[in-house]
Amino acid sequence: MSVLYIHIPFCRTRCAYCDFYSTTREAELPRYADALCCEIEERRCELPHTRITSIYIGGGTPSLLSPTLLNRILDTIYAHYDIDADAEVTVEVNPDDIVRLSTSPDDNGLAALLRPRGKAGGAINRISLGIQSFDDGLLRLIRRRHDAATAIRAVQALQAMGIDNISIDLIYGLPSQTIEQWEHDLDIAFSLNIQHLSAYALSYEPGTALTRWREEGRITEVSDELSVAMFRRLCQRASKADFEHYEISNFCRPGYHSRHNSSYWTAIPYLGFGPAAHSYDGQRTRRANTPSLDAYLSAWLDAKSSPAPYTTETLTDDELYDEAVMCGLRTAAGIDLSAFSRRFGQRHLDTLLREAAPHIVAHRLLLLPENAKPHTHLRIAEPSWMVADDIMSDLMTS
Ligand code: SF4
Repeated sequence: MSVLYIHIPFCRTRCAYCDFYSTTREAELPRYADALCCEIEERRCELPHTRITSIYIGGGTPSLLSPTLLNRILDTIYAHYDIDADAEVTVEVNPDDIVRLSTSPDDNGLAALLRPRGKAGGAINRISLGIQSFDDGLLRLIRRRHDAATAIRAVQALQAMGIDNISIDLIYGLPSQTIEQWEHDLDIAFSLNIQHLSAYALSYEPGTALTRWREEGRITEVSDELSVAMFRRLCQRASKADFEHYEISNFCRPGYHSRHNSSYWTAIPYLGFGPAAHSYDGQRTRRANTPSLDAYLSAWLDAKSSPAPYTTETLTDDELYDEAVMCGLRTAAGIDLSAFSRRFGQRHLDTLLREAAPHIVAHRLLLLPENAKPHTHLRIAEPSWMVADDIMSDLMTS
């Protein structure tokens, strides 16, 4: 079992908080789709005899692709990989692109991609919308291209097209954001009949406009206390709306967890295509494609399908152990203790439980099921997820 990630590193404009690799050179999109199809085809031997359970087209802004190009990329994937009939196929979409795509005369627009296309290719069955906020002032501040009304219309348009698996992204802790503004975001989010919500605390990444403005004193960062209060409010509201809190930043209606993201947390092999995309063989090797559109295009197109530059990294035992601890503790299920022992040995499991003991006493960590022995899982109690990094660093080797 494996998953595929396809990176579309193009954005019409750059958002103020974002440090992802992307470019605004949209005119290169058709050539980029050609190069991407070459990479997808050439690297099929890296996953022989493996069933693909999820395809995720992310970015950047995949919704800048025309339906024809998007269709071509999907057809190439379906022609060269063994895709599960029930595969989750997600595309990230910006709200302001929905109207354009849903009315495009090109190939009947987005609606054509949402219909099953027989053996040759599956339909997109999940949309992830980058909304971030329903407050127009905050959206302008962080330089998103849409406003709140457009975001709401985008969700409704997708629902009218029959999409019944919609995820939205929100950010909390934006500069000067109040708890009331965050409540307003949650009011709207939970009124939209969506199936999945990803909510992230704002982080100030080096090199972004937001970080520069903070250094220049032009914006005010919210306090840690307010950020924690926002997270708590988020957990309460999600629970009231019958959303499961299945990972620190992810909530869903029952049965709608993101299969793609869950694969990353459980060390399933994946292939990532496109500049800056990462791959993992499920064992010790990670690969990172170089974050350069020009190098990527020239290798796959001009140098006749020679692989674009990439680096590889071989993970040590300690790194694998740390990753298993970190990924397990990010989820509501926690670390599966028998699987952990099988993978790393009883001695390492004993070490983990010894390091965890003070946190278990303080109820920041829970051994589950609570009243049964032997315990099967170790997980962070939901109220302590805001300090998960501190707990994890106590349990990790580095
Ligand atoms: S947040 Fe998304 S749309 Fe904005 S610059 Fe980053 S990748 Fe592009």
